[in-house]
Amino acid sequence: MTERLSADIAIVGAGVGGSLLALLLNRIGFRVVLLDRGRHPRFAIGESSTPIADLVLRDLARRYALPRLAPLSRFGTWRQTYPQLTCGLKRGFSYFHQRAGQPFLARADHGNELLVAASRDDAHADTHWLRSDVDSFLANEVQDAGIPYFDQTEIIIREKSPTWQLAGNRPGMCLDLRATFLVDASGTAAFLPQALSLKNMGETMRTRSRAIFAHFERVASWQELLAKQGADTQAHPFRCDASALHQLLEEGWMWQLRFENGVTSAGFVLETTAQSRLPTVSPEEEWQGLLDRYPSLHQQFASARRVAPATGLRRTGRLQRRWERMTGTNWALLPHTAGFVDPLYSVGLAQTLCGVERLAHLLEHHWRRESLHGYLQQYANVVELELDLIDELVEGSYAVRHIFDLFVPFSMLYFAAATTYEQQRLQAGFQPGRACWCANDANFRRVVRHLRRKLRVALAHSASPDVTHVFFRNVANAIAPYNSAGLCDPEAANMYRYTAVDLP
Ligand SMILES: Cc1cc2nc3c(=O)[nH]c(=O)nc-3n(C[C@H](O)[C@H](O)[C@H](O)COP(=O)(O)OP(=O)(O)OC[C@H]3O[C@@H](n4cnc5c(N)ncnc54)[C@H](O)[C@@H]3O)c2cc1C
Repeated sequence: MTERLSADIAIVGAGVGGSLLALLLNRIGFRVVLLDRGRHPRFAIGESSTPIADLVLRDLARRYALPRLAPLSRFGTWRQTYPQLTCGLKRGFSYFHQRAGQPFLARADHGNELLVAASRDDAHADTHWLRSDVDSFLANEVQDAGIPYFDQTEIIIREKSPTWQLAGNRPGMCLDLRATFLVDASGTAAFLPQALSLKNMGETMRTRSRAIFAHFERVASWQELLAKQGADTQAHPFRCDASALHQLLEEGWMWQLRFENGVTSAGFVLETTAQSRLPTVSPEEEWQGLLDRYPSLHQQFASARRVAPATGLRRTGRLQRRWERMTGTNWALLPHTAGFVDPLYSVGLAQTLCGVERLAHLLEHHWRRESLHGYLQQYANVVELELDLIDELVEGSYAVRHIFDLFVPFSMLYFAAATTYEQQRLQAGFQPGRACWCANDANFRRVVRHLRRKLRVALAHSASPDVTHVFFRNVANAIAPYNSAGLCDPEAANMYRYTAVDLP
């Protein structure tokens, strides 16, 4: 059986980005078709949300009259409204400096810990999204809105212009779809860049990393492990398990995100070099080898059992990618398809939601107008600037991940950028041409480059206490115009309680 359909906009990929965009475009009045080669519920990564992601989600729910999405923007309303959808409590970011071969011992001055609050209490907190639940929920919303949705569909492009002609193969049926515009929301799979033979510019990116990850149960609480050794966890602004918890390692870093159902998402992100090859050992052996090098992590995972994905630990190649073009006359890539840096600062969901918001806005206002091309170019420029800024911030952070006294001040650049964007957005509302994290603020970009140079100098001087102190002051001075959140405060002793911007 062949089903023939025509649409204004075809969206390839029904992850969080594709489904959300389908809902918005449908509200605007476009005829949309959503396609995915997989089937929900399925394991997916990219779970830790941030104040920016939540702020944008809440705004979109209001602007496009999608009230069922708004509760997902805060932990309190999520739990109350959708107890069947699993999430985790995320009060902020936490970092712990591990040394290979040594158990972690929290210092009395918190010199090997950094906690940065992103919310004032649990009810207003951000969340970790169990993506199998959230993505299923959104795909169901798409179907409930009457939007044609085809899962388990392998798509082939028959024609690209003047309109798209797509053939879809699905169990028991074929699809013949014509669409005026195509949005690629297929993420890492890069459906359209592959089909258009676009060049991957990943080699030009500064960061070099790869990941191994899975979901586990019975991961011991880091908070309890610290408490048992008599660490001063009372000084923590929040329970550190209720955060995007980062263990900084010699090889890279590890994330730990706890969900309410007892499952923990955990992954190692490992620095690579141009010469690096994937190790010859299995992902399981590599995983265990890393845990074995860090006694406290070994202890934390001693009873852990992998629960997903069913196929075993996922191991990626180099994470960094960026396609030479992000838009064309009748197509656009969502940010996670357009490129990716590294999950160190959990920027992916925020960038995806901001991209969805900009694309929906520009299609609404410039559809079938000559201006469309220019606004698509603006969209691509903004995504590109964001990727470039994140690349600079992550690369610099990697360079000093083993010198915690330098890592802490350098990381403040990210927090200054994030809180500044949140405040600008609260004051001025959505502005399509404004990039997240001050990525198109020329002065901020100069500050980042200036501090990256200073960081090189500090590293060349073996990062003595004098040098790290001077670097801390340098950062504090340089970010002053962007620092309304009390960052870089020596009195805070790495425990930042008050960075959260209060949402109305
Ligand atoms: C290791 C890692 C960790 C991350 N951690 C975080 C984090 O903590 N916080 C954060 O904010 N972000 C994180 N991210 C980024 C986050 O994953 C993305 O921002 C987010 O998933 C983007 O959503 P999306 O819907 O655009 O793409 P995806 O979630 O990747 O969805 C893509 C969809 O396209 C479908 N698809 C693929 N190929 C085809 C095809 N040929 N035809 C049809 N459909 C297709 C897939 O089945 C899937 O449903 C992380 C990313 C990585 C790689």
